[in-house]
Amino acid sequence: YAAKERRGRALRYRPDLDERAAEDARLGAQLRIALDTGQLRLVYQPIVELPEGRTVAVETLVRWDHPELGEVGPATFIPFTERSGLIVELGAWVLRTACAQAQLWRTTLGGHAPQRISVNVSPRQLTEPGFADMVIATLAETGLPAGCLAVEVTETAVFTGGKAIDALHDLHRHGVRIALDDFGTGYSSLGLLQTVPVDILKVDKSFVDGIAVAGRESVIARALIGVSTGLGLTAVAEGVETAEQANELYRMGYRYAQGYYFGRPTAEPVFQVPVHAAA
Ligand code: C2E
Ligand code: MG
Ligand code: MG
Ligand code: MG
Repeated sequence: YAAKERRGRALRYRPDLDERAAEDARLGAQLRIALDTGQLRLVYQPIVELPEGRTVAVETLVRWDHPELGEVGPATFIPFTERSGLIVELGAWVLRTACAQAQLWRTTLGGHAPQRISVNVSPRQLTEPGFADMVIATLAETGLPAGCLAVEVTETAVFTGGKAIDALHDLHRHGVRIALDDFGTGYSSLGLLQTVPVDILKVDKSFVDGIAVAGRESVIARALIGVSTGLGLTAVAEGVETAEQANELYRMGYRYAQGYYFGRPTAEPVFQVPVHAAA
């Protein structure tokens, strides 16, 4: 009994847990300030059509210009904002800013503007009551047509259950495209593709990394383009870094890709003149 008691106490007083709580509190306060003082900004990464590589869409990715640490990537702070609930406010800001930017591109660039903008949505946002209504209201405020927006959700988010799936159905009915992000890395089940209104399958970088090398490495990428095509979904290969990978993806049947080879995320991507621009 004494040993159990000691273990329990040791657990409760583990200094690393205290440090984690203190670190979370610090991060929370700093992010609160970041949101209120404009330290957060958005960058946009091209999603291109193969084989020419013309940008047809962009994915929105958030960055934090920390006053002392410099640029901080989302992998560092998004998980914290999900735990603390701050993602709801941060996510609404990302969505509004991205939709406004996309609409500005449409009005200033016309046919050269990307056809669609993707915004990442985390599980906590998706299950927040009124999420779909908030998205639809944001579209109305910014003037962006619903068909020009895609929300990227993970398989894991969809697995949180009914509320998440209802929100996706709502959005889909309004014309918003649904993309399954990092596909193949979560609690995936191919059955999901039949119950959730999915339009776009983003094949995770881990299945793209080895495809230029002959052998087993390419089996999953090949299987997933088969599934996508069979179900009438648009497949996007993520994390393409080399010409060899791009060529191999094209040979497999992929028509859309994203990755450093085509363009890094930037504040102002350069949109090429459409190859088949009206004369
Ligand atoms: P994601 O949605 O899968 O986004 C793709 C990530 O891969 C981005 O990292 C992007 O910069 C990176 N990437 C793209 N091409 C390449 C490549 O060729 N090679 C390599 N090594 N990496 C590549 P980033 O910007 O650090 O974002 C990480 C994750 O943070 C995102 O993964 C997304 O899950 C999350 N995230 C970013 N912005 C937001 C946001 O506004 N809201 C939410 N909820 N999550 C976000
Ligand atoms: Mg994404
Ligand atoms: Mg992804
Ligand atoms: Mg990812």
